[in-house]
Amino acid sequence: MSGLPENTPYSADRSLIGKVRRRLARALTRKPAHLDLARPLLTISFDDAPASAAHAGADILARHGVHGTYFISAGLMGKDSHLGLFARVDEVKALHAAGHEIADHTYSHLDCGKAGSAAISGNIEANLRSLKHMGIPKPRTFAYPYGDVSPQAKAVLNDRYLAARALHHGLIETGTDLNQAPAVGIEGPRGEETARLWLDRAHKARAWLVLYTHDVRANPSDWGCTPEVLERLVVRALDLGFDIVTFAEGARRAQPATAHRTAA
Ligand SMILES: [Zn+2]
Repeated sequence: MSGLPENTPYSADRSLIGKVRRRLARALTRKPAHLDLARPLLTISFDDAPASAAHAGADILARHGVHGTYFISAGLMGKDSHLGLFARVDEVKALHAAGHEIADHTYSHLDCGKAGSAAISGNIEANLRSLKHMGIPKPRTFAYPYGDVSPQAKAVLNDRYLAARALHHGLIETGTDLNQAPAVGIEGPRGEETARLWLDRAHKARAWLVLYTHDVRANPSDWGCTPEVLERLVVRALDLGFDIVTFAEGARRAQPATAHRTAA
């Protein structure tokens, strides 16, 4: 599940058609990762993002000297929801100033599974205009709202971004599609347990794991976690020797070999 912009939780299309669409999309417009890692990689990301993630979440990362990725839908900024208040303009600017990645999550938290190409492009452009107006550099990565992916969304995102994050569980290794990258949620009553399991898997495989959550507070929503849980996971990852990087930095390292040559 991904963040939900309204007080009434909306969930992405859980129908069979939705599942089939996401699965079929996996075969199309692929951008295979190329990774040769000396140490496993971890990205910690916050979707939407609630003010609690911008404060308690960022404080934890700062204590450990690492940066995270905040997937921002500018249309949500300052609004209230079941995830708590979303971060305001000044709070998002402060995250950028502190070195965190501000990444694209569409302007209105658009379900890209059902929207057409023009609607997806237009919604992204609106988000980019808002972020630019705030003095934030053009985002280099994207996360699909509700984790809902479609062939047309992947085609729109392919040339725009280094990587686009979905919500199916998995690790990023050589060959993994960066246009539909897997991730694991720190959310719900088993969030910590699930994240630890995937940290161990990434450690063994020397792969890249992307974790995400939403609100970070004492009594989190079903899509968030407590500060204590987040901190234990950061400490665990550092103890295991993970390099903790933003999603954009991980995606930069994972670009296919041809892209490296082009850049050189
Ligand atoms: Zn979201």
